[in-house]
Amino acid sequence: MPRARTSPAPALPRADARGTAVGTDHLTFTYRQGIPPVLNNVSLTLPSGAVTALTGPSGSGKSTLLYLLALMIRPTSGHVMWDGSSASSLRDTQRSQLRACQVGFIFQDALLDPARSIVANICDSGLFAGMSHKQAIARARVLMGRFGVEHREDHKPGEISGGQAQRVAICRALLTDPRVIFADEPTGNLDDASADVVWQALVDHAATGATVVVATHDRALVERSDFEVRLTADGGVSTRSVSAHTGQVVIS
Ligand code: ADP
Ligand code: MG
Repeated sequence: MPRARTSPAPALPRADARGTAVGTDHLTFTYRQGIPPVLNNVSLTLPSGAVTALTGPSGSGKSTLLYLLALMIRPTSGHVMWDGSSASSLRDTQRSQLRACQVGFIFQDALLDPARSIVANICDSGLFAGMSHKQAIARARVLMGRFGVEHREDHKPGEISGGQAQRVAICRALLTDPRVIFADEPTGNLDDASADVVWQALVDHAATGATVVVATHDRALVERSDFEVRLTADGGVSTRSVSAHTGQVVIS
């Protein structure tokens, strides 16, 4: 009888170094067989220590690409690459661990749990990542102070403004000091002052060496990022450098 073959579990991408190159390798994604793919054979590498703006018309696949890069969904074919190895091929538990410990995700409308207090919303991401309750609360308080929402700690999300909710979402995303942040139109519904706070937080986090990728329609913000990756109607990508950043987006 032939012996069952088991392949060794792929190693998790290294968790120590700050700079994480995140990208795709011949990635194709389709929501349903028989319709054109949203992303078609895309291979690109996004640099660390930089803010990359992800642009393209509505429906071009910006959110889908962020969900793929953040390991929330799997490619139809090809790979999501982290540090040169396929993160999308990891087992569910390993992908969850990477997400919990190394990814911060900011959704367009903050997406806070309406039933829980602001501080509980922020702390949850840390608890999933293995922080103690005490550690998570202490760090949440530092972040709430930095983003001016400390006086809202015990409020529920329904009792704060949209701008405040997005600041809370930033605190939640930064709680674990993640090496990678994805933000999906995080300033879409904000006034200019709140949008500026959110953008500056993303820029500051990139300056620590993190990889920051932000879907946005706001051309003024695109011009303040380091790189632009534009999704095209045929499921491909084009890119350009915006700043004099030493890294680069590589399309292969
Ligand atoms: P963007 O964020 O650039 O607006 P999306 O990634 O949300 O684009 O969507 C890309 C395409 O995939 C759109 O045509 C959209 O209608 C489709 N789409 C998004 N989510 C789903 C889904 N859950 N099921 C089927 N099609 C979807
Ligand atoms: Mg979207």
